[in-house]
Amino acid sequence: MRTLASVQTVNAVEPIPNADAIEKVRVLGWWVVSKKGEHKPGDKLVYCEIDSLLPERPEFEFLRASSFKPARDDVPAGFRIKTVKLRGQVSQGICFPLSLLPPGTPTDKGTDVTDLLGVRKWEPPLPVGMGGRVKGGFPGFLPKTDETRVQVLEPVLERNRGKTFYVTEKLDGTSFTAFYRDGTFGVCSRNLWMDETDETNLLVRVARKLKLKEKLPEVSRRRGVDLAVQAELIGPGVQKNKYELKEPTLRVFSVLNVGTYKFLDHATSLAVIEELSLGAVPQLGTLVLNHTVDELVALAEGMSVLNPKAQREGIVLRPFEEEYDADIGGRLSFKAINPKFLLKYDE
Ligand code: ATP
Ligand code: MN
Ligand code: MN
Repeated sequence: MRTLASVQTVNAVEPIPNADAIEKVRVLGWWVVSKKGEHKPGDKLVYCEIDSLLPERPEFEFLRASSFKPARDDVPAGFRIKTVKLRGQVSQGICFPLSLLPPGTPTDKGTDVTDLLGVRKWEPPLPVGMGGRVKGGFPGFLPKTDETRVQVLEPVLERNRGKTFYVTEKLDGTSFTAFYRDGTFGVCSRNLWMDETDETNLLVRVARKLKLKEKLPEVSRRRGVDLAVQAELIGPGVQKNKYELKEPTLRVFSVLNVGTYKFLDHATSLAVIEELSLGAVPQLGTLVLNHTVDELVALAEGMSVLNPKAQREGIVLRPFEEEYDADIGGRLSFKAINPKFLLKYDE
C-alpha cells in the first residue's frame, strides 16, 4: 500500500514572490504552501501526499469547504487532498504539526501513519463501461501497473545518476492487461481479473476487437514464452477522452514474460507490440539521469503527443532493461506528473 501520511522533516523553507502571509516548504521532493513562520528547516511534521482522503474528524474540518467528498459505495466520506496553486506557486500535499498524532506515536522520520490517522487513497469513481462479470482479484502472477512518484525518490535519483532511461508519455486512460499463461487467456483492469467473455465490459470489448485472444497465444508460441501486455486504454468514454479519439485505443507500456515475471527489454517489447498489431505509448526519447526532482517535474510539462491541445499527464522513466530497486521495492520505473495537468483536470 502506498504511504500517504508519514512523519517527515522540513528540508527547506522559501519565500513566494509577492506573498506576505504564505511561504513554501520542502518536504521529501514536494513543495507545500503553508502559513509564514509555521515551519523551520529541520522541523518534524506529519505530511499527507496528494490523493489522500482524510477522515471526517474535527481536526480536518477546516478542509470541508474546499475538499469534502461524500461517501460512495466503495469509499467513505472525507477530505480529498489535491494539487492547488496559490499565488502562482504549485502546492502538493498538506502538513500538520506532530501534535496531530496520538501521544506515544513514534516520530522517526519516515514513520508511516496512514492507517493510524485513517487516511485512505482517494480514487475517482469507476467510469461507465468498466463494470461486468469479474473472475477474481488481479492475478498474483502478474505485476500491478502502478508507478512511483519521483517526489519520493530523491535517493533513487542520486543512486542512478548517469544511467540512461527511456522516456514515454504517461497517458490518462485506464489500465488494461491481457495475458496468455499455460493455455489460458485473460483480461484485467487495474485491480480485477475480468470475465473475458462478458462484452458489457469495455476492456473485454477492446480485447475482442483487437483479436488479442488469438494473437497473444500466436506470438507467445512463436517466441516460446507466455506473454502479457499492459496498456493504457484511451478513447471515447474514458477520462473525458482528452485525446479526442474516435475509437477506444490501446497504447502498450509493458510487455512481460509471464513465466519469469520479468519485463522484456525495451527493443524486444517494441517488436512484440508490432507483432501484435498494437501501438506503444508515445516514445519521447532517452535521458541520461542527472536531474533533481524539480528538473524532472519541469520536463514532465508539455502537451500530449496524441493531442497538442491537451496537457500531457506526465512522463514515465525506465531503464532499457528491467532492474530491481530496493527503495521502490520493485522494478526501477517512475513517473513525473505535469503540474499543469493536475491543476487543469484533477477534480
Ligand atoms: P489511476 O489513474 O487509476 O488513479 P494512476 O495513473 O494515478 O492511476 P499511477 O500508479 O499513478 O496510477 O500510474 C501508473 C498508471 O499509469 C499505470 O497503471 C498505467 O495504467 C498508466 N500509464 C499511462 N501511461 C503510461 C506509461 N507511459 N508508462 C507506464 N504507465 C502508464
Ligand atoms: Mn496514482
Ligand atoms: Mn491513470
